[in-house]
Amino acid sequence: MAFEPDIQPIVEDDEALAAILADPEADLPPLLPTLAYLTGDLSLLEPGLRPDPELTLEEQAGWTPDQLQRCRDIALPVLARFRDEGLPSHDPTTEQLQAIMCWITGVDLDGSYVPMLTEELAANGTDPRAPDWHKDALAPDAQMTVVIVGAGMSGILAAHRLQQAGVDYVVFEKNGALGGTWLENTYPGCRVDVSNHTYAYSFMQKHDWPQFHSSQEVLLDYFNACADDFGIRDNIRFGVEVSSMVFDEESATWSLELQGPEGESTFDCQAVISAVGQLNRPQLPNIDGLNSFAGDAWHSARWNHDVDLTGKKVGVIGTGCSAMQFIPHVAREAGELTVFQRTPNWMVPRPQYQQELPDNLMWLFTRLPNYNNWFRLRAFWRGHEGLLPRLEVDPDWESDTEISVSASNEELRVLFTMYLEMEFGDRPDLFDKVTPRYPMGAKRFVVDDGSWATTLKRDDVTLETTAIERITPAGVVTNDGVEHEFDVLLFGTGFKASEFLVPMKVVGRGGIELHDHWNGDARAYLGVVSPGFPNFFYLYGPNTNIVINGSIIYFSECEVHYVTQFLRHLLENNVRALDVKADVHDRYNEWIDEGNAKMAWGVSSVSSWYKSASGRVAQNWPYSMLEFWDQTREIDLADYEAL
Ligand code: NAP
Repeated sequence: MAFEPDIQPIVEDDEALAAILADPEADLPPLLPTLAYLTGDLSLLEPGLRPDPELTLEEQAGWTPDQLQRCRDIALPVLARFRDEGLPSHDPTTEQLQAIMCWITGVDLDGSYVPMLTEELAANGTDPRAPDWHKDALAPDAQMTVVIVGAGMSGILAAHRLQQAGVDYVVFEKNGALGGTWLENTYPGCRVDVSNHTYAYSFMQKHDWPQFHSSQEVLLDYFNACADDFGIRDNIRFGVEVSSMVFDEESATWSLELQGPEGESTFDCQAVISAVGQLNRPQLPNIDGLNSFAGDAWHSARWNHDVDLTGKKVGVIGTGCSAMQFIPHVAREAGELTVFQRTPNWMVPRPQYQQELPDNLMWLFTRLPNYNNWFRLRAFWRGHEGLLPRLEVDPDWESDTEISVSASNEELRVLFTMYLEMEFGDRPDLFDKVTPRYPMGAKRFVVDDGSWATTLKRDDVTLETTAIERITPAGVVTNDGVEHEFDVLLFGTGFKASEFLVPMKVVGRGGIELHDHWNGDARAYLGVVSPGFPNFFYLYGPNTNIVINGSIIYFSECEVHYVTQFLRHLLENNVRALDVKADVHDRYNEWIDEGNAKMAWGVSSVSSWYKSASGRVAQNWPYSMLEFWDQTREIDLADYEAL
């Protein structure tokens, strides 16, 4: 394990320990669970301090000053004992783990959550999700080569797991280096907007991220370091693009056509894992005259670092997560900036958004084994499971569901409107423009530390909300007939998220092409397999996007687990290929559609990349993290036809 904290002895006297705990930046809610975990003393978890799930979004669990002090009073003597007597050695029972998990989440979790959260905790640098089988033991002579397409976050993970299981694999990566989205997006201000501690593999947790939300360079370094630690780099063929994949029923193999540095070639294999991501093909807006602009123009994911924006007149189209990250930087360089906003975002305040990890928080990470793990588990819970119920549509909600979808969703709307009032109260003109008129959760939240208001209030920045009519050689003409002239035009207009696996051609049984099968509306069983395409898997496939601010890495870990279980079955039972049954797939998708129809993003008519052209939600997973974990645990052979 490359990133385990180097645990150092506690040497501070009581006064210094008290000062560390008194620092508001020392995150206290994970501390008592860590101490209870290390000692087995569950009495440390006082019921009066148990985090209130209603205050999930609050820092320090929304504790009052008295509660914070009570936590410090409980923790101090335990830390002093660790200093004087050394760290205890205790192996918690499942019941103890469950009790600690119930306390930290604030929810009376039944036992079903414990195995999933225990995996996610991955305490003591363990890797509970590692394959517990090896090909040499199951079928040493079986011919099994797996192709992984893409060496981003999920492709690296798949390669690691296959290597652990002793399965031959090769990764084809179209770029000259690994990293996927973290390689391609180099725009200024690019950083991970979910907690960095959750945006990491569960088995490669890292306590010393330089920031709470590290920059693109740091994330790229992390994935490079993981690939080196896993020893997978030699199996990646860089600069090789897969153009087509055809299944041969006779031999039950996939035949791939490749375009690489040495020209065209072919490659045959027994299974394919597509790890090409959902958000990697830039979407340029469908605006008249798009290509007529005479100045420099580029998309956020293809940043042109050769053009100096200093003093230039710059226009930006789009205000999604990417644009809201680069616009503050562009504003500081440009002479004048006009931002064209079609729909404002709900913003979640996060003062630590661009801050370094503070010393006293790092002290906890480096003195207490597994503090990191409990800190991460709490962030994991808060980012998804803790928020999901607030985005569900209450069928009895009598207000306009284009504004909010339940009482608790309305509470969020009021809370985050207050944040906008705080930020823009002195500029009613801006407040009106930046206030969303759709329910919280219908589009992805954007994280903010005050940068957005600071940027939009600059004298040299204009927020333009009049719709765009066309693009001209000189700039942008809005519907009011005004022509806005620019030297540079930047597109923060997102990705072709619903065009899964484009431009690859994938031909399955009976000569069906995958995109014809989908007919513009991608679907899959468990987000991983499609009928007619045996031994062909998607990572981050249809309906596996996590909507709120949880980590997509969790989903990839579950999906890769399922794929390795699938391969295990092939090897163990000498089966060449499995094809998911169409009725199983169809029933599953009905259930997915029912789930999405009950969520804010399903009922709202606001535009978002969560929907395909038909209006169906093809991206999002509408249920709990646990539900996805449960479904991807084991392969159910009744779901499949063996070939
Ligand atoms: P996006 O969320 O799809 O935003 C696209 C923006 O362009 C929206 O403001 C959209 O307006 C606007 N737009 C699109 N077509 C337009 C047109 N014809 N005219 C005017 N405006 C137009 O794309 P993104 O910001 O690149 O983010 C995509 C996803 O990537 C995010 O939701 C997130 O999941 C991921 N991401 C993650 C991070 C991270 O830190 N982890 C950072 C960036 C992105 P409407 O809102 O009206 O459609």
